[in-house]
Amino acid sequence: MRNELKHYINGEWVESTGTETMEVINPATEEVIGHISLGTKEDLDLAVQAAREAFPSFSQTSKEYRIDLLEKIADEYEKRKDDLIEVITEELGSPLSISEKVHYMMGYTHFKQAAKELRDFSFIEKRGNSTIIKETIGVSGLITPWNFPTNQTSTKIAGAFAAGSPVVLKPAEITPYAAIILAEIFEAAGLPKGAFNLVNGTGDVIGNGISSHPDIDFVSFTGSGAVGQKVMENAAKTIKKVALELGGKSPLIVLEDADIKKAAKIAASHIALNTGQVCTAATRILVPNSIKEQFEEAVKAVLPNFPVGDPQKETFIGPLVAKKQWDRVQEYIEKGIEEGATLLTGGTGKPEGLDKGYFVKPTVFTDVKNDMIIAQEEIFGPVMSIITYDTVDEAIEIANDTVYGLAGYVVGEDPETLQKVASSIRAGQITVNKAKPDFSAPFGGFKQSGIGREWGNFGIEEYLEPKAIMGMPS
Ligand code: NAD
Repeated sequence: MRNELKHYINGEWVESTGTETMEVINPATEEVIGHISLGTKEDLDLAVQAAREAFPSFSQTSKEYRIDLLEKIADEYEKRKDDLIEVITEELGSPLSISEKVHYMMGYTHFKQAAKELRDFSFIEKRGNSTIIKETIGVSGLITPWNFPTNQTSTKIAGAFAAGSPVVLKPAEITPYAAIILAEIFEAAGLPKGAFNLVNGTGDVIGNGISSHPDIDFVSFTGSGAVGQKVMENAAKTIKKVALELGGKSPLIVLEDADIKKAAKIAASHIALNTGQVCTAATRILVPNSIKEQFEEAVKAVLPNFPVGDPQKETFIGPLVAKKQWDRVQEYIEKGIEEGATLLTGGTGKPEGLDKGYFVKPTVFTDVKNDMIIAQEEIFGPVMSIITYDTVDEAIEIANDTVYGLAGYVVGEDPETLQKVASSIRAGQITVNKAKPDFSAPFGGFKQSGIGREWGNFGIEEYLEPKAIMGMPS
């Protein structure tokens, strides 16, 4: 049983000032795996105070010191590989191989990438008669979701540490244990006291507390749009800068000259990875009418290659993270049927033989119209909507007919058409065919998918304020 009832404040594990605790559930077994303390306003105040006290010295550390620190963190992170994989599988339900190849690796890569970016990063530049200095923004409050327990935390923390910003982190309360291991990693790497503080708790108390705290200068939030709005409203009261990484309803445009089997595999992998609980997942698959039937057959044929099952065993799709998420996905599948979309495969209920755990059937709808609820709202589960088009211009119009703009995908052969589509989708990150992720590229959304960018040097810039000094003697 993982009973982690302490918060990490000012370089020490401390008791909560409150007494409330919360159960943490393994979504594959529905069993309690441990408890956490639900932090109080007082706990948060202590964490913010520790970060404020760390600010003058941490923000003045040299670039070389921070590169070395990030490298040491990456080394310590590697040493905790088995623990991280185990905990992610337990708290999130992610299959062991995905916990390793995706979750563990992404967290590691952000620390390595931040160290690399910092080597070429300039905190001072001359422009006109000015000296421009990029100064640490202050104390940062970080609020993260449950779907990538090491990736979302690490990308923010790596950027903050690279910029010299002390942080207060509130991880998602339903997957809190990976962040506890991160705190242990920072401690082992010799992070100065107060530069990292972790307060567990609810969005209502600690989340609202962070976004409205007068001594926090910047809030970086990843999560749902509804909560993102609340964070922005709270932050407005103290004119706090916010970065919001929110949801998506990303399109994948299959071009007429695409290899249909390859395109179907890419589409299926999007709903399969992390059980579809990925903000950048392509969930609207736009297919030319001319190849609709072949594409549908290819999707049906390839889906069994992504088996659903016990995440402790060899499988690809684990359970959804929680009962609430399971109910939500069921409701969307019911809505899709009610709206008149054709259920190609999957549907409501649990997959055969998986009665315990929040498992769902990978579900594909076809004959979907872009104004249906299942095509407009983020489902956050393994549900695909196939929408047809006649011309590339129509496909682009459908792709952009959404309030979101996080990611976009295009699969095909003709370079000119690929270029046209990639530059016409209004979203922060476009992937052409099966390109690999690029951790030096900016990550973030247009429109209601958010404000700001993470990853690479863009993620460091978020934690800096440019200051202009005119006429400084040289
Ligand atoms: P959520 O918004 O419910 O919760 C995110 C975090 O905010 C949690 O730590 C939660 O405790 C906290 N929170 C809740 N209420 C709060 C409040 N009033 N003030 C401040 N914090 C509060 O989101 P979730 O269900 O954990 O995650 C799923 C959502 O996250 C999806 O919409 C997904 O698209 C989005 N997401 C976006 C990205 C991205 O980079 N764009 C990445 C992953 C997830």
